[in-house]
Amino acid sequence: MTITRDLLHAPLAELLTSAAAVRDKHHGTRVTWSPKVFIPLTMLCQDRCGYCTFAQPPARLETPYLSPEQVIAIASAGAAAGCKEALFTLGERPELRYPVAQEWLDHHGYASTIDYLAAMCELVLAETGLLPHANAGALFSDELARLRGVSASQGMMLESLNADLECHRGSPDKVPERRLATLDAAGELGIPFTTGILVGIGESRQDRLDALEAIAVSHVRHGHLQEVIVQNFLPKAGTAMHTAPPCPADEFVWSIAAARMVLPPEVHLQAPPNLSEDFGRLLDAGIDDWGGVSPVTPDHVNPERPWPTVERLREVTEAKGFELAARLTIYPEFALTPAAWLDERVRFPVLDMSDAEGLARDTTWCPGADEDPPVLLPGPRAARGRVQEVLDGVLLGQEVGEDEIVTLFGARGREVSAVAEAADQLRRETVGDVVTWVSNRNINYTNVCTFKCKFCAFSKGPMSENLRGKPYLLTLEDIQDKVVEAVGLGATEVCLQGGIHPSFDGDYYIDVARAVKDVAPDIHIHGFTALEVTEGARRLDEPLRDYLTRLMDAGLRTLPGTAAEILDDEVRAVLCPDKVNTEQWLEAHRTAHSLGLRSNVTIMFGSIEQPRSWARHMLVTRALQKETGGFTEFVPLPFVHMEAPIYHRRMARRGPTFREALLMHAVGRIAYHGSIDNIQASWVKMGLPGMRQALQAGVNDLGGTLIDENISRAAGASHGQHMTAGDFAALVEGMGRPLEQRTTLYGRVAAVA
Ligand code: SF4
Repeated sequence: MTITRDLLHAPLAELLTSAAAVRDKHHGTRVTWSPKVFIPLTMLCQDRCGYCTFAQPPARLETPYLSPEQVIAIASAGAAAGCKEALFTLGERPELRYPVAQEWLDHHGYASTIDYLAAMCELVLAETGLLPHANAGALFSDELARLRGVSASQGMMLESLNADLECHRGSPDKVPERRLATLDAAGELGIPFTTGILVGIGESRQDRLDALEAIAVSHVRHGHLQEVIVQNFLPKAGTAMHTAPPCPADEFVWSIAAARMVLPPEVHLQAPPNLSEDFGRLLDAGIDDWGGVSPVTPDHVNPERPWPTVERLREVTEAKGFELAARLTIYPEFALTPAAWLDERVRFPVLDMSDAEGLARDTTWCPGADEDPPVLLPGPRAARGRVQEVLDGVLLGQEVGEDEIVTLFGARGREVSAVAEAADQLRRETVGDVVTWVSNRNINYTNVCTFKCKFCAFSKGPMSENLRGKPYLLTLEDIQDKVVEAVGLGATEVCLQGGIHPSFDGDYYIDVARAVKDVAPDIHIHGFTALEVTEGARRLDEPLRDYLTRLMDAGLRTLPGTAAEILDDEVRAVLCPDKVNTEQWLEAHRTAHSLGLRSNVTIMFGSIEQPRSWARHMLVTRALQKETGGFTEFVPLPFVHMEAPIYHRRMARRGPTFREALLMHAVGRIAYHGSIDNIQASWVKMGLPGMRQALQAGVNDLGGTLIDENISRAAGASHGQHMTAGDFAALVEGMGRPLEQRTTLYGRVAAVA
């Protein structure tokens, strides 16, 4: 109560400053919006609110409800335009007022408006993938529960707790107790919920504070309020309140700032951008969200006020020093804890549209897909707040820790360029402008594997022919033929890795290495993952050190860093539970390094994990590098989802977004600065236009020519099988960076003109 009393009397400028500070502290520089379509399922309503132009009498409507075909047509247009959310707006229980509504429902086999709404949510979800947000007013528990099964979030404006407002006469659903009961029932059911207040409909400042306090109490009780909307009243022709004065701008921003101060700080605060002339000012009052903006449908509640374009929204947001990010109807905090907040039926649709932070995927690009990525680099650069603080520290030579790495992965908009620029500066200082590549051939001797990594589309059981290709096992002679062919094509390295065949004991790998050396004594053998050598030693019951020594004697020189996936055991427990764990992976490389073998660090990212796991991966490998110095490079490997079993089982995302993929290279450069000098990008996963941008984000190595690349193609990647020196030259052309062929250990082979 003291806070609210203080708010009533605080000078506006001070209040705005305080509110903005709370927003900055808890939400940083990110301002979100939801790309959505509005589906006005019915414009009939039993209420008679004095400010409303949405509700219409039956005579003004062709039909009481949109048909399923109309609903799908609107949603499909939205999906085609990149929308993520289908916002169902509708009048409250029209069947209680209009017989024509009840007749329509009866005729079409629906028990109520809510029954029809649930059916349409389900239809839109199934047909378009858009995530329904049901905005159906004051509901009872059973209705909320029914909608929870077919929507990603729900909402209801509390509007006001003043029971005597003239504008709510004749509106049975606007009784404050009914709305508060709905708010709490949603919390009890674990529904990510949106609510809000209307400002300027006859209520006092104290009324607004009372409503905000009630919202805060409900949130403290259930933790379910993801956002609160503060909306200003504007008079509209044809309504009872058409002569009422509009909400004064100062009163509106006071209300937003008061909301920011009263609500728990984690609750997102939204104000619509289309209802204010100077909507940038709303940012000064502490909002961190613009709400839904549709590229397809008008604001049906305020049809006379068109949405700003997304470009305009970005321009205004950036002019105030913020970065705009698209979100889903469900906010990240809720999307990332789906067991608590989402019905099982809605979890995968949410995951499928999410990026690693639980925000909306920004484009349709996926790793390995035959689609050019968005152009993020070069791009406008700006950073302040936490991202800039971390970058300042980096450029002063400070080492980044887990929180700093997570912060950098959160870069959005212009911050991405800022992170990439810092990474590229470190790249220049460390290895100069030279771009390197290695001539190599992948030889995957078998795709039969006893392990069951859930992301792996490459491995087959011995009898399996269900996924791409048949089970195979190359003979030593087959392998030798491939090696000889590779040498003939100029390869200096063969990269040997494959499934863990049930018939292999550790001697198989030694035989392979010897067979390779027999036909190509000078070739560099880069082979056998931490899993293969650990498993090989285990099957022979031989200490890993002794086993690796025998492999070295047979010709092995470096180990690939694959089988690392994500070095965070919580993630591994889901992705690859029967594989080596983090410590075993590290121990294999530690032992290898101690014997003089070299290896690299890979990370397979973008399936189920979040940036904190990426940070942990970087930190444990950096710590080992400080101990041994044995890693030659860091190789980000974006998860390719298309044929991955875990994606088909509806348990994973579609790989990283391009922003995330770029940042992985840039943040890798920053995190490993001073310990791992080379950052490699994988053309198989990133595609060539993606590689050009990666080269502006700290990358100095293009990896190998990879005659035969089976593993990514098995997962669905469509980029070619082989790069030549000429292809690499074309890739860097015009970038002003010299290209050099290297050996596996970064010695130079020859300069390419
Ligand atoms: S990732 Fe490797 S170990 Fe796992 S199933 Fe595939 S081939 Fe086997």
